[in-house]
Amino acid sequence: MKTKFIFITGGVLSSLGKGLAAASIGALLEARGLRITIQKLDPYINVDPGTMNPFQHGEVFVTDDGAETDLDLGHYERYTHANLGQKHNYTSGRIYYSVITKERRGDYLGGTVQVIPHITDEIKQAILQLNSEADIAIIEIGGTVGDIEGLPFLEAIRQLRSDLGTENTLYVHLTYVPYIQAAGELKTKPTQHGVKELLSIGIQPDILLCRTQIDLSPDIKSKISLFCNVEEDRVIAAKDVKCIYEVPIRFHEQGLDERIIESLNMWTRAPVLTQWKDLIAKIKEPQHKVRIAMVGKYVNLRESYKSLNEAIFHGGIANSSEVEIDFVNSEETKGEELANRLSEADGILVPGGFGSRGIPGKLEAITYARKNNVPFFGICLGMQLAVIEFARNVAGLPLADSTEFTPTTPDPVIYLMKEWYDYRTNKIQKRDESTDKGGTMRLGAYPCRLALDSKAYAAYGVEQISERHRHRYEFNNSYRKALEDAGIRFAGLSPNGELVEIMEIPQHPWFLACQFHPEFKSRPLDPHPLFASFIHAALARKLKTRKLKAQSSKQES
Ligand code: GLN
Repeated sequence: MKTKFIFITGGVLSSLGKGLAAASIGALLEARGLRITIQKLDPYINVDPGTMNPFQHGEVFVTDDGAETDLDLGHYERYTHANLGQKHNYTSGRIYYSVITKERRGDYLGGTVQVIPHITDEIKQAILQLNSEADIAIIEIGGTVGDIEGLPFLEAIRQLRSDLGTENTLYVHLTYVPYIQAAGELKTKPTQHGVKELLSIGIQPDILLCRTQIDLSPDIKSKISLFCNVEEDRVIAAKDVKCIYEVPIRFHEQGLDERIIESLNMWTRAPVLTQWKDLIAKIKEPQHKVRIAMVGKYVNLRESYKSLNEAIFHGGIANSSEVEIDFVNSEETKGEELANRLSEADGILVPGGFGSRGIPGKLEAITYARKNNVPFFGICLGMQLAVIEFARNVAGLPLADSTEFTPTTPDPVIYLMKEWYDYRTNKIQKRDESTDKGGTMRLGAYPCRLALDSKAYAAYGVEQISERHRHRYEFNNSYRKALEDAGIRFAGLSPNGELVEIMEIPQHPWFLACQFHPEFKSRPLDPHPLFASFIHAALARKLKTRKLKAQSSKQES
């Protein structure tokens, strides 16, 4: 069967949740038994989002094949079974780079290289390479219709309808229907204008998803239908929801998946949505509540730790718990104030990060967790700092540090490893301070072997795991013996034993830190074992503390 393509565009304004809409459509189509794949096309000029500031662009999502991608790929993987990579995220920069490289090589035989057809053909090629990968490929165009940068992408998908035919292509447009408080009504004008904009490029949307705060009345739907040339049953409300995992169900209730397969002239079974429905029921009625302090630098921006927040939430689902995250900014909160904040938490997490800002606060939080037996989860930079904290305060190496922050440290417990065997490329990797920034990261999925008597093994239940990485620095093996003697267990190593992937403190109720980013592989329907285990430990601590308090107040009275 040939792959059919669904193109998703957005109008009126950004941040309407196009990524979630694309992911939810993917989930619905999978529930009908179809194989799907999803691709994001981003109009900005950066070749990939790897070097972009998380404040501006949100998290960089890492795939198994080591691509640094847009955070929407995280949504796609969380909602579907699609295994994404390099070819599922293109930017204008990457498209132009490839065209310019070809031009320099002389591939265009002296012709004038132009946006149409050269850039648009390159975009079409990027899309069409997904042919045969799935029954349906969902292609999300980043940005808002009307942006100058997005035009070549829209032109490319416009052409694809005549190339592939009406039954093989579908245009879904996400738009906004604002509720005007003063008038007490919904306004359709922005949607009308947005669709006009799309029409001027030559694209007539087949389905409209309307972001709205309140339900769309039949009147509003028929008005939108009339002015936008979209049948009424194809005007679908995308009403605000409390929990993002409700979106597939809400879309299905309005017949969205039915309309899609009808338009694409396909036949499938009715969707099986039991898992999603059970999930929502579980989320809506949690039995417990735990509080996790997340101590980091970009804490005031939820988007920069998107997958992490989701993974923590999934860990809660696995324990029938609602998880409240207290975002603690380690640059501003220190000393007594920090201790007070942490004393309210049932678990402490230090996430990944780059650069030396906010490090002392994070170290203080780790000391607090270690000394007070509070469940601690360190991720990537969080593991490196847990090693430094332990080396300084337990193993008698007061100046221990990472060469990332202190290049001249006498005890570089974390450093750039000069040479190591790379399981992903099956080659020896070499690193030194002069290798260029982007190129020196350990990126993507790497195998890790677990010690059978570790907390990690208890959580995963298997001996060998594969997790995704995005970092430059590594644990320095010349300190392994000293730190082991002082009480660290190196619970996860690369199969040849060379790279430290997980450290634990066995004397502590739950102190685990990993060099990889487990959050990238957590899914609501399949919570990540480490997050499930961490939240379980936090909940156990909370219940135990509550019991102790109750006992002591009984004794007092
Ligand atoms: N800055 C550290 C490194 O490059 C950690 C990176 C991370 O936390 N993702 O190794």
